[in-house]
Amino acid sequence: MLFENLDIIKPIQKALQDEGYSNPTPIQAKSIPHLLEGKDLLGCAQTGTGKTAAFAIPILQRVYNEQKNSRGPRTIKAVVLAPTRELAIQIEESFTAYSQYMDIKSLVIFGGVSQNSQTRALREGVDILIATPGRMLDLYSQKFINLSKVKYFVLDEADSMLDMGMIHDVKRIISHLPQVRQNIFFSATMPNEISKLANSIFKDPIKVEV
Ligand code: AMP
Repeated sequence: MLFENLDIIKPIQKALQDEGYSNPTPIQAKSIPHLLEGKDLLGCAQTGTGKTAAFAIPILQRVYNEQKNSRGPRTIKAVVLAPTRELAIQIEESFTAYSQYMDIKSLVIFGGVSQNSQTRALREGVDILIATPGRMLDLYSQKFINLSKVKYFVLDEADSMLDMGMIHDVKRIISHLPQVRQNIFFSATMPNEISKLANSIFKDPIKVEV
């Protein structure tokens, strides 16, 4: 299996080559075709399986295709929530690496540091926002974040979020997102609370396991 067989567009293929990826991992091969079609997806996968690229590649490809003909102002089109600052930073680095041949801007925000550089970057315009839930809500309630154009929502390591007591914040963020959007959850395990949340917001989800 090659990335070309998954109909990945050239600028992303080139970036993946630069990263030294030759073939999609199993989670990527199973998820990417559905995500490119716009399906909701519930994925059971651990860190190390390549799950970040499994959601980052199709989101970038869809955002790129949507803005190919009309590059409007930069607005947040995708929100990715992660439980820890370390994971959020890694996800942002992946989005930035895979989008290096496209005009798409990613930003990571997390708590425990001054919000000044984050609010400045938000004002300059962002396409893909990666965040930990607490800081995201904080900046949203201060009106630094406009969610009205979000079409893609990712919850990564959903089970860790539950363990860390973040699910309430996650639900509040979801309540501020536009109704029509693509939802993607990844979780290493599938506790009841997470499948309940998924069932309450997903439309006909694809389930993928590795
Ligand atoms: P993740 O599970 O998303 O944390 O990814 C684990 C590691 O696998 C990261 O260092 C990625 O850069 C790497 N990776 C992701 N996809 C591929 C691929 N198709 N080929 C080789 N390495 C990959």
